[in-house]
Amino acid sequence: MSQVLSGSGMTSQRTRSRMIERLREKGIRNERVLAALAAVPRHVFIEEALASRAYEDTALPLGFSQTISQPFIVARMIEVLLEGRELGKTLEIGAGCGYQAAVLAQLTKEIYAVERIEPLLAKAKLNLRAIQQFRVRLKYADGQLGLPEAAPFDTIIVAAAASSVPPALLQQLALGGRMLLPVGKGEQYLLLVEHRAEGFVETRLDGVRFVPLLSGLE
Ligand code: SAH
Repeated sequence: MSQVLSGSGMTSQRTRSRMIERLREKGIRNERVLAALAAVPRHVFIEEALASRAYEDTALPLGFSQTISQPFIVARMIEVLLEGRELGKTLEIGAGCGYQAAVLAQLTKEIYAVERIEPLLAKAKLNLRAIQQFRVRLKYADGQLGLPEAAPFDTIIVAAAASSVPPALLQQLALGGRMLLPVGKGEQYLLLVEHRAEGFVETRLDGVRFVPLLSGLE
């Protein structure tokens, strides 16, 4: 048993650095983002049956019809949020298994993550504990409503596609803050929302494919 574990540990190191090389080839330039992804063992967040595919640059099933985000998308979104600034107090909507929250926790001290499917939240807790990541404050909540008790946030990152920007999230975005979310029903794209003195400025970025942002709790 311990042999199997140390064996897969070594494989994980090698395949993890290959994953980082692929992210570089695909255009991720921010070294802090690459280092954050390199520091998080993605296989811990994935079902054992799929663990051999943990460092492929693909989305993988999490159960409950949800998927763990593709490393490139995680890297790309964080790179956009980090450009020219720090993340500051961060809210992630859609924690899933906790992978992206673990990456964010490498880059900011204050990180909240909400999830609407209770068993997934429980999984995220176990996964984050397994990698000794105690910084992420996980909450069982409908993220469409944000997290009023901890608002305002400097950064909001949404891991599921909304049909339009949830108004509560705009209200909870601090002045100078940045939110990045996938928007759209069929065709989806990433929308960057910046809260400037003159108002909210929206910029449409890459086409993407995310699971839908849903209402209520499960
Ligand atoms: N961040 C995850 C991705 C999970 S997939 C990762 O690192 O892999 C998106 C997640 O968003 C799913 O777990 C889904 O249950 C969750 N979700 C969808 N709508 C939500 C809502 N309104 N509030 C909170 N979580 C939501």
